[in-house]
Amino acid sequence: RLYNEVIELKGNIRVFCRCRPLKQDEIENGSTSVIDFNSSQDNELQIISSDCSRKQFKFDHIFRPEDNQEAVFLQTMPIVTSVLDGYNVCIFAYGQTGTGKTYTMEGTPENRGVNYRTLEKLFTLCNDRSSIMRYELFVSMLEVYNEKIRDLLVDNSNQPAKKLEIKQSSEGTQEVPGLVEARVSCTDEVWELLKSGSRVRSVGSTNANELSSRSHCLLRVTFMGENLINGQRTRSHLWLVDLAGSERVGRIEVEGERLKESQFINKSLSALGDVISALASKTSHIPYRNSKLTHMLQSSLGGDCKTLMFVQISPSAADLGETLCSLNFASRVR
Ligand code: ADP
Ligand code: MG
Repeated sequence: RLYNEVIELKGNIRVFCRCRPLKQDEIENGSTSVIDFNSSQDNELQIISSDCSRKQFKFDHIFRPEDNQEAVFLQTMPIVTSVLDGYNVCIFAYGQTGTGKTYTMEGTPENRGVNYRTLEKLFTLCNDRSSIMRYELFVSMLEVYNEKIRDLLVDNSNQPAKKLEIKQSSEGTQEVPGLVEARVSCTDEVWELLKSGSRVRSVGSTNANELSSRSHCLLRVTFMGENLINGQRTRSHLWLVDLAGSERVGRIEVEGERLKESQFINKSLSALGDVISALASKTSHIPYRNSKLTHMLQSSLGGDCKTLMFVQISPSAADLGETLCSLNFASRVR
């Protein structure tokens, strides 16, 4: 085992908080940060309300606006690479739209995020071990929107999307029959796949950001390894999940399709919170079946699986209400 000694001591559920920088327009509007980072601790912050009262939050790690993608990946690496040791792993980005969920997971071509850096690292580690291990890596990409699962590696632009369902295998694990698993052998292939998946995702929506904020996007990495010395085989999953925006929608604007969407989002995000907090409190009944998201991830959540939640927040006073909601949600699962 490469990295996991430390993690094992700390348990299987981790919460990192990441605060994005103030945006140009927020600065121009005179917005200031409502977040006070503890100068000596990197796992505590305080939210300063307009009446100057303070509320303190503590997580496993807190990333400040100036922390870059590399710094974030450095802390994430031990968790994602444990997939090579046979662990199933789930990483979630949770938060209000515009707080940097996609930036953390996908990133930009100049500042690539956790998804790409993870695969890059896995390729390197596998190559380093190639004298003692044979391995294959596969990537699947899917979207959950209004409790329907869509394969993003299938281009459905000319025909209605095939609906995917969750089935229980004979070993008791949750599988998605028919889901494309693309074999990948280098980072260039991965980057192309991620781009094509994102393109498929945005087809049919007038505004890509609008739609992506209301669906969950899941990248699944499957590791298949064979130890050449003892013949032991490993198959494990790593899920990298960019969740739908957690913001509550104003009562006036919600009706029809939009109302249905926000009900589905609330349902799946609260189901996720319920599952993780049940796992954290070591309750015996874990309510996986309450949403497609948690049901699909069942085999990768709980047991000795590793879970990491990024709670993404905005520093702006205008977002204070949603920031407090997100921090409270994350405190509940910790
Ligand atoms: P979300 O996916 O949560 O809706 P995005 O990832 O799209 O949010 O981020 C919103 C905007 O803020 C994007 O333009 C993104 O590049 C920028 N951004 C988010 N987090 C950071 C960060 N840590 N550093 C620099 N820019 C960021
Ligand atoms: Mg996004």
